[in-house]
Amino acid sequence: MIRTFVIATNNAGKLAEMRAILKSLEICLVSLKDAGINSEPDETGTTFKENAIIKARCAMESSGLPAIADDSGLVVDSLGGEPGINSARYGGILNKSDTDRVNFLLTNMYESELRSARFVSCIACVFPEGDIITAEGVCEGTITRHPIGDCGFGYDPVFVPDGFNLTFAQMPFEIKNRISHRAMAVNEFKKKLELRMKENTYAQQ
Ligand code: IMP
Repeated sequence: MIRTFVIATNNAGKLAEMRAILKSLEICLVSLKDAGINSEPDETGTTFKENAIIKARCAMESSGLPAIADDSGLVVDSLGGEPGINSARYGGILNKSDTDRVNFLLTNMYESELRSARFVSCIACVFPEGDIITAEGVCEGTITRHPIGDCGFGYDPVFVPDGFNLTFAQMPFEIKNRISHRAMAVNEFKKKLELRMKENTYAQQ
């Protein structure tokens, strides 16, 4: 029997990436909107993992379905790890759009020669049966001095992954989806989920 999972995000960019990477699994993925869930919980955790579990648990409790959530962000060395878990809210309510947050980041790094940074993604799946699967992915890179490229979302226009000379926003979707923090986390998550599905099939026989 094909099982339905909720992907607990309203971020269209994340949803598209997770759907693309998980498409080979025999599961049905529905968005929060498809599942009729309008609210998202406050991200009160202190780590990516805690926040991913908070979001997945909330969607599981609202829908009764296993729920997958990602908490991710950009960790910049010269800013002491900021924006980190606050990437989506960096600069507070004054920064309403991705463009505002990117400009705020570049202003804060204006005088810094140290441009190293990494994207981190933690995926959590909370099951109605009570167990939790988590997986983490990291993509190292550097921050440009100006935004470049029109693809992707968030901080993509200022992040050049190691080994490339293009920002994430200049790359075709398929390439970002092969090398990104989220790709690594989702691929590890996929292996753990496949194992759990196999174990459950045996348990039911
Ligand atoms: P949250 O996980 O919903 O709290 O938000 C993560 C935030 O980190 C996003 O809103 C983006 O600003 C940023 N972010 C996470 N992953 C990416 C990515 O792949 N590209 C660009 N920005 C990202």
